[in-house]
Amino acid sequence: MRAVRLVQPGQPLEEADVALPQIGPSDVLIRLAACGICHSDAHYRAGISKFNSLPMTLGHEVAGHVESAGKNVVHVAPGDRVCVHYLVSCGRCDFCSRGFEQFCPNGQMIGRHRDGGYAQFIKVPGRNAFKLPEEISFEAGAVMMCSSATALHALNKARIKSGESVAIFGFGGLGFSALQLARALGCGEVYVVEINQAKLASIAALGAVAIDANVADSAEQIREATGGKGVDVAIELIGSAITMRQAAQCLGVLGRAAFVGLTTEALSVFPYPELINQEAELIGVSDHLASEIPSLMQFACSGKLRFPPGTIHCVDLDAAKINAVLDALEISTDRIRTVIKS
Ligand SMILES: [Zn+2]
Ligand SMILES: [Zn+2]
Repeated sequence: MRAVRLVQPGQPLEEADVALPQIGPSDVLIRLAACGICHSDAHYRAGISKFNSLPMTLGHEVAGHVESAGKNVVHVAPGDRVCVHYLVSCGRCDFCSRGFEQFCPNGQMIGRHRDGGYAQFIKVPGRNAFKLPEEISFEAGAVMMCSSATALHALNKARIKSGESVAIFGFGGLGFSALQLARALGCGEVYVVEINQAKLASIAALGAVAIDANVADSAEQIREATGGKGVDVAIELIGSAITMRQAAQCLGVLGRAAFVGLTTEALSVFPYPELINQEAELIGVSDHLASEIPSLMQFACSGKLRFPPGTIHCVDLDAAKINAVLDALEISTDRIRTVIKS
């Protein structure tokens, strides 16, 4: 089968002809229909993240048809439309048994620790395959497995409740899902912080309050817009100490800030005024859980999570085209998402 693989970090991905994976009794073989090209794939290609072995087929946002299933797999069958939870965990360790499989010491990320979906077929454990309802396109299904799932996990970690106000920092793929999912969960007013003028216009068009970070400090703008109260929940998706600090500063009494964006910069907070005095919380968010995928599907089926025409771009399974998408991702995140259509 054809696959597009990382052979050498820092070099373009290469097209290869590889053997069709052989499945075990608990695995499924999936014929790819769509695989998302993620910003983290650009990091992998650049050599920012370490790989245990190379070459490796990238791609962790996977949707397609079940081609064949091992004898122990009962919840899906050949021909079924499925999407894939990207973390393969042991299912037996302390973290797995408590439902926090993202901390499984033996966890393997698809498209990083084991071959991913930049290929015609992929082998995954059956329990990583979730039925994809007819109402959801393969492209949307693929994208939902990463950015939407992580946005939902962030909102869950922030324990968002009906009627609560939300500030979202960053309106890329994650922010686009976070806005819709916050509403699906019944939130009140949503404030979205951006610097890109086109994105600010689309935020306003979606009925959220656009906060232009070019104009003034965004935490101050949010505080002013909430009559001094601050918000109940802040979701930081950019990964900078500056916006994390603003996410903490825009919280009201009992507010929770969830940090999704990655940074190694130090973050300063003033414990007494910013946390203690209002019992505010700063929460780290890592990946998402298999148990969150069914509710994500429900939101997509009911039209609460949508990817209107133009929000997902498609390319062929072609190394040059995929490398060009990764080049563009390294420069900007203007596009909501691109998927490989097989
Ligand atoms: Zn991703
Ligand atoms: Zn485990």
